[in-house]
Amino acid sequence: MKVKFWGVRGSLPTPGPKTARYGGNTTCLQVLRESGPLIVLDAGTGVRELSDHLMKSVKPPYDIRMLVTHTHWDHIHGFPFFVPIYVPGSQIEVYGIGPLHHGKSFERVMRDQMTYSYFPVENTMLDDTVKYFDFNDLFKHREGGVEGHFKLTPEVTVHLKITNHPVFCLAYKLEADGKKFIFTGDHEPYYDTNSPGGESTDTEARALVELMNDRFIEFCEGVDLLVIDTTYTEAEYNGQPGKPHTSKRGWGHSTFEYNIGLAKRAKVKKLALTHHDPTRTDDDLDRLMEKYAALAKREIPGVEVFATREGMVVDV
Ligand SMILES: [Zn+2]
Ligand SMILES: [Zn+2]
Repeated sequence: MKVKFWGVRGSLPTPGPKTARYGGNTTCLQVLRESGPLIVLDAGTGVRELSDHLMKSVKPPYDIRMLVTHTHWDHIHGFPFFVPIYVPGSQIEVYGIGPLHHGKSFERVMRDQMTYSYFPVENTMLDDTVKYFDFNDLFKHREGGVEGHFKLTPEVTVHLKITNHPVFCLAYKLEADGKKFIFTGDHEPYYDTNSPGGESTDTEARALVELMNDRFIEFCEGVDLLVIDTTYTEAEYNGQPGKPHTSKRGWGHSTFEYNIGLAKRAKVKKLALTHHDPTRTDDDLDRLMEKYAALAKREIPGVEVFATREGMVVDV
């Protein structure tokens, strides 16, 4: 199993010469296997590049399974430009989770971005090719609910874990060909929301926070490749002392420092840092990677750690 990165940017596409090396397209990954349907994770603007590639190199009709981590724009706004959805005879299964608390299904949210005010092509054009699956419906009667595993294809098992993010978001662990790979989608380490400024003094809340973070680390235990949301440095996340409005706490993203620590505890074999902050230039990312490669060398010697780039292919 290999993973190809078609979009690695978080929050907003960032075209232009200053981001050309790492890439400005938002999140999209492709899982490469020798057989079986094509597997795609997220449909940020990177999915348009994948679309171009498929139209040139793979004969239609298309058989595709798409796993969407969550419905924030940067993870779905390439979807209307993914040409295989318009190719008659194709079968595109799209899996995700809707924002339950607003009473909207995953399908409703996906369809809403292709309505008259936003996009010129009507959803009805996709009715024969695209089928949506909402995990809230699929696993309504399962003990444990959404979290658990299922067979995406006869050879690929997918494990689901809800992450800490300001909308329902899922981390996906794919198990196939004797290997395991995780894409976290967006995830912020849990913290005590009653102590937004930092360290909690409430021992019960601290124990709960630790338990939630431990569960996430257990989910990552021993994976061959962990692709993880690494939007901020710890300093950016905390903000300036005495200026709480500069903190990024509660925005739903993780840090270089935390993720290297997580990889150490979970004994991850390969660590890919992704969802690059849209304000970062290529030179910024180079500088950060130099700094954090040194930290990783000390903390997790022997583990390959890298920042994702558009077009990169990684062995799981
Ligand atoms: Zn995002
Ligand atoms: Zn998000």
